[in-house]
Amino acid sequence: MTDIAYREHDVNNNRQESMSFLEGVERMVDRATLVAGLDPDTAKVIKACDAVIQIKFPVRIRHSVKVFTGWWAVHSTHRLPAKGGLRFARHVNQDETEALAALMSYKCAITDIPFGGAKGGLRIDCARYSVDEMREITRRFAQELARRGFINPATNVPAPDMGTSYREMSWIADTYKTLFPEDVNQDACVTGKAVERGGIPGRTEATGKGVQYALQEFFRHPEELSKSGLDDGLAGQRVVIQGLGNVGYHAAKFLSEEDKVKIIAIIERDGVVLNEDGLNVHDVRQHLAETGGVKGFPGGEYSEHGADALEMDCDILIPAALESQIHAGNAMHIKARLIVEAANGPVTYEADEILRDRGVVILPDIYANAGGVTVSYFEWTRNLSHMRFGRLQRRFDELRGMTYLGALENMTEKQAPPGLRTEIVRGASELDLVRSGLDDTMRSTFQEIRDTIKRNPAINDYRTAAYVIAIRKLAQSYYDLGLVAPPTE
Ligand code: GLU
Repeated sequence: MTDIAYREHDVNNNRQESMSFLEGVERMVDRATLVAGLDPDTAKVIKACDAVIQIKFPVRIRHSVKVFTGWWAVHSTHRLPAKGGLRFARHVNQDETEALAALMSYKCAITDIPFGGAKGGLRIDCARYSVDEMREITRRFAQELARRGFINPATNVPAPDMGTSYREMSWIADTYKTLFPEDVNQDACVTGKAVERGGIPGRTEATGKGVQYALQEFFRHPEELSKSGLDDGLAGQRVVIQGLGNVGYHAAKFLSEEDKVKIIAIIERDGVVLNEDGLNVHDVRQHLAETGGVKGFPGGEYSEHGADALEMDCDILIPAALESQIHAGNAMHIKARLIVEAANGPVTYEADEILRDRGVVILPDIYANAGGVTVSYFEWTRNLSHMRFGRLQRRFDELRGMTYLGALENMTEKQAPPGLRTEIVRGASELDLVRSGLDDTMRSTFQEIRDTIKRNPAINDYRTAAYVIAIRKLAQSYYDLGLVAPPTE
């Protein structure tokens, strides 16, 4: 599935914002540096983007030559490979690519994923090209990056992002294999591939699933919940979601089907569809796929004023589309008590300051949407090991389960009910293991964020805490490499 770009034209409109996306991310680092008393010189080193390459390449399309522009930005290489998504969209530019690469570094650091941060982008309006043309363009771009070392299992590993999916990743992997057939780890040159082509079960929905796990973890802690003023329990919470692409769709689907939240509004490019009783996410997605928009969806009321719906009365707002959607111009009017950043950078620096002053709780992007890269990490290690997870122990676990159950039944002289028997005896599938690793990552990262706040009274929001953790970890590895002065607590 491909992420749907939402109101792309808004991204480059400055509106009331006084800084670019990249400057906003850098200001977030500065704020965390100041609050936690970290060394500003170290912060300078951390903020700098290590390398960025711009590539212009021609492709012959329908009897004429078109020159495309793309970027690959490597923000940090303290750990390798540098990891990040490859975005295909009309608005892609260098500032955005560098900002997103920096977010990848911080995201990997706080979740303890041993990768550096990178991001790629291709400026393209995908809707204008056929599948065959897209394949040709993707392969050419991949070729240009790979032959310069910007796609490689050991150094730079792209993944799906907005406008790309397992389809593009499989094309890229195939291009890499053609160029480097002798590389025994060639499958690991990209993640997010189709499962049949070296991917891992659970990667497609990983970011949405991670959003769900993050919210579940937040709701497990009454003292955290009380900061937001929300009632106990996810069931019945009124949720507005912006963007029904891969991330938004899976987050909304899991939350509504498994946690029983009410999705009262879905904002898309052509407007918003509303239903106070809760929308059927699957049906809205179907309608979107068939018609290209939410207009005319029979299960809800439609309005063309999508952006206004960000300000509507609700409990939880999940921006899952593009960056800079909540900005200095609308932050004052947001009514949600909790914002979960499923997209990268949906709240600008200035909006973040306004929302913090107003007491709106934010689960920040570098935590809330880290599920994608977490499962990418699992896929990459699986590719390097050349073996699926669980292959060695699954049947052994089943056997052990049967032995335990048999012993228990003998001792009690009672038979376990069939449902329970299946659950006890069953060995974990690869998807079970992926989900368990993802859930564990989301829980332990949130614990670390909470601990950081508890230990430092000057920090009172999750974003600053997350940045402090990331900066400390990056500073430590730069120190180990002799690049900066030793970190102080
Ligand atoms: N594009 C995703 C992100 O922004 C995933 C990156 C990856 O898996 O490397 O986090």
